[in-house]
Amino acid sequence: MSEIDVPESHPRYQSLLTRHRIEDGVDRGITTRQGLIAEGRGEAFDYLLGERTISSSDDAARVAAALLLLAERPAISVNGNVAALVPAETVDLAAAVNADVEVNLFNRTDDRMRSIVAHLREHGTDEAGVAVRGLDADARIPGLDHERATVDADGIGNADVVVVPLEDGDRAAALAAMGKAEVVIDLNPLSRSAQAATVPIIDNVVRAVPNITGHARDLSGASRAELEATVRGFDADGALGAAEDAIRSGELG
Ligand code: ATP
Repeated sequence: MSEIDVPESHPRYQSLLTRHRIEDGVDRGITTRQGLIAEGRGEAFDYLLGERTISSSDDAARVAAALLLLAERPAISVNGNVAALVPAETVDLAAAVNADVEVNLFNRTDDRMRSIVAHLREHGTDEAGVAVRGLDADARIPGLDHERATVDADGIGNADVVVVPLEDGDRAAALAAMGKAEVVIDLNPLSRSAQAATVPIIDNVVRAVPNITGHARDLSGASRAELEATVRGFDADGALGAAEDAIRSGELG
């Protein structure tokens, strides 16, 4: 038994654990009710993918790791669902690629911002030497309305590569328009965020984040030329198409 009263051998264990974390996040003021809806939508796609990392998404995770290792100022955007589902894994990824994490909320309130920052600190940001940003709110993403445009100048504002798990489509497009390279993690290959990404990873965030970290560790000895070749060879439309085919073919893993 773990956080939930269900044995790990239960066939729906992972899905039940994920739901529990989101529900618990709502109780703790980390996740919103809209976050519950987003989770349901993600679950449906994950079911159709066979709740596994398909090979094209694993390749995309490796490319994302290479892109992050090449970055000068990488940042990982964290919203309520990401904070609830993968707090420790996000800190691990940030440490592996030397990125900042920035709390960035669709429904921004001071209380939620502070709860999420505290939650990330509880999961080891200080020990890992990872900066947590989001509270300065001293820069804006052009082309968005006030709340959703807010970022930290020293975080996402200045970042050259941004990881945006579960981002809404408008913001993903606006960040891309600023010239940033974007790694989007989203279970829906047709979502506007996935379509706007430099590197779309069509996978559950609970699998994708540790998977990028694993690839980053594996690539840590690679030369810049090798990393650049990995990024250059990537076909984003091909990755989206492969995921859509896997979903439509209905061949559950
Ligand atoms: P877009 O504007 O990008 O088309 P949206 O704003 O309509 O999408 P939402 O309704 O906010 O999207 O849903 C959130 C998105 O996050 C969905 O595309 C869903 O598949 C995805 N998602 C939800 N939970 C997860 C998860 N655990 N891992 C990966 N993706 C997820």
